[in-house]
Amino acid sequence: MALLRHTTGEIKERKALTVNPAKTCQPVGAMYAALGVHGCFPHSHGSQGCCAYHRSALTRHFKEPVIAGTSSFTEGSSVFGGQSNLIAAIDNIFTIYDPDIIAIHTTCLSETIGDDLLQISQKAKDDGKVPEGKRIVYASTPSYVGTHVTGYANMVKGIVKGFATKTGTPNGKVNIIPGFCEPSDMAELRRIAGMMGVEIILVPDTNGVLNGPLTGHYEMYPKGGAKAEDITSMGDSIGSIGVGRWATADAVNYLDSEFKVPGKVLGMPIGLKATDRFVDALRLMAGVTVPDSINFERGQVVDILSDYTQYFYGKKVALAGDPDQVLALVEFCITLGMIPAYTVSGTAGKFFDDRMAELLKDVPYDCKYKCGPQADMYLLHQWIKNEPVDLLIGNTYLKYIARDEDIPLVRHGFPILDRMGHQYFPSFGYSGAMRLMEKFLSAIMDRQDRDCPETRFELQM
Ligand code: SF4
Repeated sequence: MALLRHTTGEIKERKALTVNPAKTCQPVGAMYAALGVHGCFPHSHGSQGCCAYHRSALTRHFKEPVIAGTSSFTEGSSVFGGQSNLIAAIDNIFTIYDPDIIAIHTTCLSETIGDDLLQISQKAKDDGKVPEGKRIVYASTPSYVGTHVTGYANMVKGIVKGFATKTGTPNGKVNIIPGFCEPSDMAELRRIAGMMGVEIILVPDTNGVLNGPLTGHYEMYPKGGAKAEDITSMGDSIGSIGVGRWATADAVNYLDSEFKVPGKVLGMPIGLKATDRFVDALRLMAGVTVPDSINFERGQVVDILSDYTQYFYGKKVALAGDPDQVLALVEFCITLGMIPAYTVSGTAGKFFDDRMAELLKDVPYDCKYKCGPQADMYLLHQWIKNEPVDLLIGNTYLKYIARDEDIPLVRHGFPILDRMGHQYFPSFGYSGAMRLMEKFLSAIMDRQDRDCPETRFELQM
């Protein structure tokens, strides 16, 4: 907190230094994706410290125990390679913890050495360390490139690549590949598809894994998660929809090129317009009509929007987070009449700049945005120092700026370490849009109540 007091409004070009990054490292995303497969044990091929950090990052966000193994690199494996450690780990994990699948991801260290997961996995199979009916999937996740979003995307593709086949007999289902989002958002995708009468294969699916009930019994492999037989059948599906360009395009394109399953990659269905696009894509792909129950929820969103537009209108917002999340949020803010004044995302990609330019073209304000390693919360703070905003939207790390600048914060994204709700209540879909509007409005109206003069302090707002 004290350090933030040294943030100045004087912005200098930085090429190498990142301060308070709006991202975390690749294996966190890979571990999270692996937990969305039923009976899967994530394994970190690297040192114990990396694995401990990745597990704790997920545990602190979801408030659930997160399982994972580590190859426990020592000085020897760091120099000569980690093959023997990984083969011993595969043997131990299948013998002691009995998962159906081990999902292995690399770390900076094992990538720098050049360990080849394909070759090591094959050797483990040849050595009889993979029991009959069990599987290994893997992904390369070097953290000196990319972010947790890249790691998630790499593991999702690894899972799909490790399982999906084509029998030639259509299964009549639509593959839905969610980006890096909450278990509650994955549940919402399934709920919307259910309302539309569309059978889906949702991969990964962390609902019921990282937001499960307290039963009094520890279950290493909770009931939730995508089932192996369903992932295997993805090559026979009608089509695939990815929600989140960064996190899902690789898997969707793989299914398209390998099995001729036509794919469509959308943004995350956060807000009115993005949810409309998702519902429409599902309607067209599955050849169904949109039921009244969905139109009813959409109508509720429009009703809230028109009732409260006076409170949203003209409010300046600063956002930080994953590109798939913030692009959707920026669009929703504009729909609500707010001004997305500043946006940073630690994950790079040309599409971010192109899409932001498109979204902001009619916004009457000189909005600033940036993606990549130097698009950090320090820069966001500097922009705010020069011209303040009315609302912050992003993860828990923004609470320091919120306190320093006395700006209300709506927590959204990863990680959220100091509040609950994200695991259980979606931001996706029309119901998610209603929840977001409630959160935005509460933050804005609470601040108005706090700051307004007595003569303008109203009972009815
Ligand atoms: S950035 Fe690299 S070294 Fe650091 S925790 Fe992540 S994988 Fe490990």
